[in-house]
Amino acid sequence: MLKENLFQVEERIRAACARCGRSPEEVTLIAVSKTKPVSMIEEIYKEGIRNFGENKPQELRDKYDLLPQDIRWHMIGHLQKNKIKYVIGRACMIHSVDSAELAAAIDSQAAKNNVIMPVLAEVNMAGEDTKFGLRPEDVMSFVRTVSELKNIRLSGLMTIAPYVENPEENRIHFRNLRKLSIDIRNKNIDNIFMSELSMGMTNDYEVAIEEGATIIRVGTGIFGERDYSSTETHSI
Ligand SMILES: *Cc1c(COP(=O)(O)O)cnc(C)c1O
Repeated sequence: MLKENLFQVEERIRAACARCGRSPEEVTLIAVSKTKPVSMIEEIYKEGIRNFGENKPQELRDKYDLLPQDIRWHMIGHLQKNKIKYVIGRACMIHSVDSAELAAAIDSQAAKNNVIMPVLAEVNMAGEDTKFGLRPEDVMSFVRTVSELKNIRLSGLMTIAPYVENPEENRIHFRNLRKLSIDIRNKNIDNIFMSELSMGMTNDYEVAIEEGATIIRVGTGIFGERDYSSTETHSI
């Protein structure tokens, strides 16, 4: 069942790439496995998927410890400073850096572990009150601050678009995120690399690919609907 879902997503990625003249190799699919058990991750792993996304630091840690070492874990959810320690050394990338304070805290934890942590700046393109993320107009000053940090590598930008009925409504946000990354790249700031655009989820990843996404984050489309009915942290 999951295998069929995955094949369908991969087929739609290929079709979206074909429509805009991109190679599917330019698009990394992250299977967003939050709330889903290890057994389901193993099923998708068997099909060759190596990038998985989690939004809770402890859940990422627990799954990291139980699953094959060649999985690339992506931290995609809001991160509190006191939980950075669970993620450094386990996640290959933090997608959700949305303040200079958080960046500084990641930098110092990364320095302690003697690693350089690849991160993305999360930008709230639609200005939704309910979402985390930098305001677009604040991104440039954020970038300049982060360029001073030695143990962080800012690799690009990330956004979570609004939930909309028609994914075309989100095209403008994806397009604007790409423009922002090009503006930043053109400034040639030390230690800033704008090679990644993490945008597009189950509902809108094809539009995101057409607008230049290099990373898409697909949960429901692969694993099915999530069950949030349990109030406890999810069992793994
Ligand atoms: C849950 C989540 C996703 C995946 O959402 P789906 O709609 O299930 O594909 C992607 N990105 C982030 C940041 C998420 O929290």
